[in-house]
Amino acid sequence: MPSPSDTITLVGAGLTGPLLAISLVQRGFRVAIYERRPDMRRVQLSAGRSINLAISVRGIHALREAGLWESMRHIIIPMKGRMMHSLSGALTFQPYGKDETEVINSISRADLNAALVNEAEKRGVNIHFNERCLGFDLHSGAARFRNEEPGRESSVESSTVIAADGASSAIRVAMLKIGGFTLSQQFLDYGYKELTIAAGPNAKHVLETNALHIWPRGSHMLIALPNVDGTFACILFLPVEDEVSFGSLDSEAKFLKFFQANFPDAVPLMPQLSDNFRDNPTGSMVTIKCSPWHVDAKSLLIGDAAHAIVPFFGQGMNCAFEDCTVLLELLDRHGADWPKVFPEFERARKDNTDAIADLALENFVEMRDRVGDPRFLFKKKVELALEAKYPQLFVPKYAMVTFHRIAYSLALSRGLVQDAMLAELCGSIDRIEDLDWGKAESMIHHQLRPLEQL
Ligand SMILES: Cc1cc2nc3c(=O)[nH]c(=O)nc-3n(C[C@H](O)[C@H](O)[C@H](O)COP(=O)(O)OP(=O)(O)OC[C@H]3O[C@@H](n4cnc5c(N)ncnc54)[C@H](O)[C@@H]3O)c2cc1C
Repeated sequence: MPSPSDTITLVGAGLTGPLLAISLVQRGFRVAIYERRPDMRRVQLSAGRSINLAISVRGIHALREAGLWESMRHIIIPMKGRMMHSLSGALTFQPYGKDETEVINSISRADLNAALVNEAEKRGVNIHFNERCLGFDLHSGAARFRNEEPGRESSVESSTVIAADGASSAIRVAMLKIGGFTLSQQFLDYGYKELTIAAGPNAKHVLETNALHIWPRGSHMLIALPNVDGTFACILFLPVEDEVSFGSLDSEAKFLKFFQANFPDAVPLMPQLSDNFRDNPTGSMVTIKCSPWHVDAKSLLIGDAAHAIVPFFGQGMNCAFEDCTVLLELLDRHGADWPKVFPEFERARKDNTDAIADLALENFVEMRDRVGDPRFLFKKKVELALEAKYPQLFVPKYAMVTFHRIAYSLALSRGLVQDAMLAELCGSIDRIEDLDWGKAESMIHHQLRPLEQL
């Protein structure tokens, strides 16, 4: 059995790699990370790659377990709900949770990444930047790298390679050669572009600070998350090819006209709109499902490398951090018995990561089409009223995913039961006063078990 004194090779110093490295070092392992990109603390990020992330309870739990959450507090901004911007500029606020303790938090990817990398180095993790993984030998377990500057190639032998190299994982590509390896990758026919709302005087936010702003427009959507420097990081989601799409908006003039027509209240707040359009790349979004996640005891996929999801539930990183929590629990239970730990890890996670992948796709439609719909908003109110009366039994799907750590697969299945209840209870009413509480009580008690018993 490998001993903790073996060096673990971790591929990828994105979000998961350094967090896992820190926790492994805390348990006495030696860890070396190989990262394709240059050190982002020393070079400027390429344009359009600094998107903000919403971190919630699963991600926070993992950071807390590693002793890092408290030191992150100065780089986060709590968001209490969604602020919807209609075409006329009217604002509607919809809280995320039952009260102000249930918030999601905006954090800059660059700040979080830098904080994790700093901490990993401080704890003795050796991080090799500019080292692109080229492949992995399934028999010997050696990983191959090319240094991006001189172009020198090297082979790294270690008893364990953990791949945290994201959605296009090079280790996963090597695993395609395993007999029986299955892979599905579903690209969304939407792309995204990062844009910026400028800070106001004295670095003040020009929109409500503690909200995630959404401009839902049916086939497209703009969102904005607050930054600590007074700016908002925005993401425009548009079809890749369609009548109105990244393909059709192929000139600055067309793009600005589209913006003016669809997001008129945002345009005056975005002095860099033309520059952002020109300079920032259009990103793609993919759902990846694969199995197995490991090659014997030699290597393991974790985070997006194992299960990339679309960003509409704000859970990709939270889920990847929860991977770390589960892997570490198994390690604490079994020691470095990788032949036992790797398959158990996959068994514990696979149904859950498949479930959050499906929930994220479902939430895309909700954010794009429904958040401005009065029926949808009414159902959300009923959900919160039911939760207030039956807090252990009826917990909205969004809350189960975001504010609780119950298995994603349970959140998915309970969510379906609750959706059916809501459809029946709200079917013929449009005022909360008309809710049939007797029927609600009977349905809830018959169909849902208390969360604490799960
Ligand atoms: C637009 C958008 C918005 C999102 N919003 C949220 C959100 O609000 N909340 C949330 O929880 N999640 C969100 N996510 C998802 C989140 O970004 C990912 O789930 C998370 O980054 C996964 O972490 P990771 O470490 O697995 O992969 P990554 O963070 O992608 O890190 C992978 C690392 O591996 C490196 N690498 C890649 N290939 C190689 C190679 N061949 N050799 C060496 N190194 C390599 C990369 O350079 C990178 O540093 C969002 C994603 C997108 C695209």
